[in-house]
Amino acid sequence: MSEFDLIHKFFTRPTPSAELGVGDDAALLRVADGKELAISTDMLVSGTHFFADADPFLLGHKTLAVNLSDLAAMGAVPRWATLSLSLPAVDEQWLQRFSEGFFALADDNGVELIGGDTTRGPLNLCITIMGDVPRGKALRRDGAKVGDDIWVSGKLGQAALGLANLQGKLKFYGEVRDECLKALHQPQPRVSLGLALRGIANSAIDISDGLLADLGHILERSSVGAEIEIEALPIVDDGVEKDVAQQCALAGGDDYELCFTAPESQQEVLMALAEQLKFPLTRIGHITEALGCVVRDGEGKAIKIEKGGYDHFA
Ligand code: ADP
Ligand code: MG
Repeated sequence: MSEFDLIHKFFTRPTPSAELGVGDDAALLRVADGKELAISTDMLVSGTHFFADADPFLLGHKTLAVNLSDLAAMGAVPRWATLSLSLPAVDEQWLQRFSEGFFALADDNGVELIGGDTTRGPLNLCITIMGDVPRGKALRRDGAKVGDDIWVSGKLGQAALGLANLQGKLKFYGEVRDECLKALHQPQPRVSLGLALRGIANSAIDISDGLLADLGHILERSSVGAEIEIEALPIVDDGVEKDVAQQCALAGGDDYELCFTAPESQQEVLMALAEQLKFPLTRIGHITEALGCVVRDGEGKAIKIEKGGYDHFA
């Protein structure tokens, strides 16, 4: 199968919202007046981000999901993506399942695949995602204000617990294990939440490297600090020890939940929003003038945290 047959068979679909999609030297897009284009890239490398024998359907899902998560954090409507693949060999069965996983999530989110690149090499998956957001309305990392509440969506630490379980470092079973493995392999990007937070949140980020690491980016960009109440964290509360679940919530990677800050006056609006979206939104602390991030235990005592999050080069 040639490179072009492969592209045609697995990755060429109609792209009605693009002026020009797959097949030319570049795609052409029209961005509406009054909107900004939000662009983000994320690469998944075999051996670093996933096991080489990972289920291709789930890999197709996750490669797009981590990119959608970035647009969710910006409050942008996802619209287009490019897909660059480095493949050790042409395995049609693998490509079929990978493209099914990719397009299932793409269709759910109104994303059209408008181009990419395909080459032989170590397994490596890279997506560039594009979306639009009304001018000046994007959720940014640099908008947190002193006094803001700090919120997170969903449960934190599930993916890290799932990974530890697969690696044999942590034993737990049953429904909790299923949930953690699902969080690891098939994360659900919080696109609808991101859109709903426009005009409500002062800042936002998606949690890919652990809460403390990613909240740290908001603090740095906004020149503020934070206090987190460890007992408030939405953690896995069954089957694993509490302190392990809390550690994974603070520093585990791959959650793809959103962390955002909003004025106290938005608390009721956000509780109603959680009800509507059918997943939890939890207030875990607040933004302070004093720089740095303090994590407090149930008695209000500051806790020393050993590891801040995932860093590929640390
Ligand atoms: P060029 O040689 O001009 O870079 P390519 O031969 O790499 O073009 O690609 C031909 C067309 O197929 C282009 O429109 C490109 O965007 C698209 N394409 C290549 N690989 C993929 C892929 N994995 N998914 C979607 N589109 C792809
Ligand atoms: Mg090319």
